[in-house]
Amino acid sequence: MSDKKIKNNFLSWLEINLDNLSFNFRQIKKLICPKTKILVCVKKDAYGHGLVPVAKKLIKEGIDFFGVASIKEAITLRKSDISTPILILGTSIPEDIEPIIKYDLRQSISNYLLALALNSKASIFNKKINIHIEIDTGMGRTGIVYKEAIDFIKKILRLKYLNIEGIFTHFPLAEKDPVFTSRQIRYFKEIRQKLIQENIYIPLYHAANSTALIRYKESHFDMVRPGLVVYGVYPRKGLNLKLKPVLALKSKIILVKKLPQGWGISYGHTYYTKRITNIVVIPIGYGDGYPRALSNKADVLIRGKRFRISGTICMDQLMVDIGRHFGRIGEEVVLIGRQKKEFISVEELAKLCGTIPYEILTSLGAHLPHLYIEDKGIVKDG
Ligand SMILES: *Cc1c(COP(=O)(O)O)cnc(C)c1O
Repeated sequence: MSDKKIKNNFLSWLEINLDNLSFNFRQIKKLICPKTKILVCVKKDAYGHGLVPVAKKLIKEGIDFFGVASIKEAITLRKSDISTPILILGTSIPEDIEPIIKYDLRQSISNYLLALALNSKASIFNKKINIHIEIDTGMGRTGIVYKEAIDFIKKILRLKYLNIEGIFTHFPLAEKDPVFTSRQIRYFKEIRQKLIQENIYIPLYHAANSTALIRYKESHFDMVRPGLVVYGVYPRKGLNLKLKPVLALKSKIILVKKLPQGWGISYGHTYYTKRITNIVVIPIGYGDGYPRALSNKADVLIRGKRFRISGTICMDQLMVDIGRHFGRIGEEVVLIGRQKKEFISVEELAKLCGTIPYEILTSLGAHLPHLYIEDKGIVKDG
């Protein structure tokens, strides 16, 4: 990302670098066979990066499928003139069935009642609906338990208005348990084998999330299903793939003041000045999705240097003791991303406050304005 000053009217904002998104997508493409399709998970507003701009950029890169959590996200894509296949990864309720048909969406199926309801509505419209059957090979969430999968699939095959386009499963331990994950892959392969033996042909078998995509080539099947890595964030350490982070979090100094030694800072006085010092106030807080648990733990970047957050993070402000250093009102502060030689990652913040990068991204994304950067310039805000 360029170090050029970006003028905007926001106090705090997210900078979304769409060039880096493309870079990551191409990196992923290099890891898979040319014929393997890519579904990118753009659920929860593209992991907080902004659904429509991310989707449009990925279409330019040749994405095959989008994965969303809810019908609402799918409709947002369709209303933005996006005709790429969309798979609703979550399970839907009866009210969603008409829009699924109207907007030509793929529904994942874990229970017979939803399949039945879809089939009967589809028969009224005289349209076939594409579905993907989810198999629980060990995720313990949605999906039909793998031992019941064959019978279930045969039962679904009798529903004439449903077309089983895909069968998929999901890995809960891809980051930490290769034995368990390999067993899941084996169960999934066995199901495919049995179906082929019975002359049941289903075009798309898919399983791989970000970690599996990188670590388990045998999990690629016909389509991979990454999320996090497309946004340039690593689900675990030590993955052998170069990525560029897409999201940066920036703010501005809104106040600088001198305080005497022993002055308590913010609610609860969890920090006291150690000497006469300069304190800066930065207009971002937990109400903007920046976790309060980072109080006195995370750093911010000012003039290319790291400074620790001082005291408790408030709803919409936080303070930083910059000692003898200088700061000017209006000067840029980086909370995630690069400034000169220093860099703060989402992974670092997640670790500091005992959560996962996914949670940091989605909570920031839900609260802050987005500024999109493409070809090194601002394309639009939103
Ligand atoms: C979110 C999700 C993914 C992507 O997971 P990442 O860890 O972000 O790659 C894949 N499959 C399903 C079913 C998901 O819900």
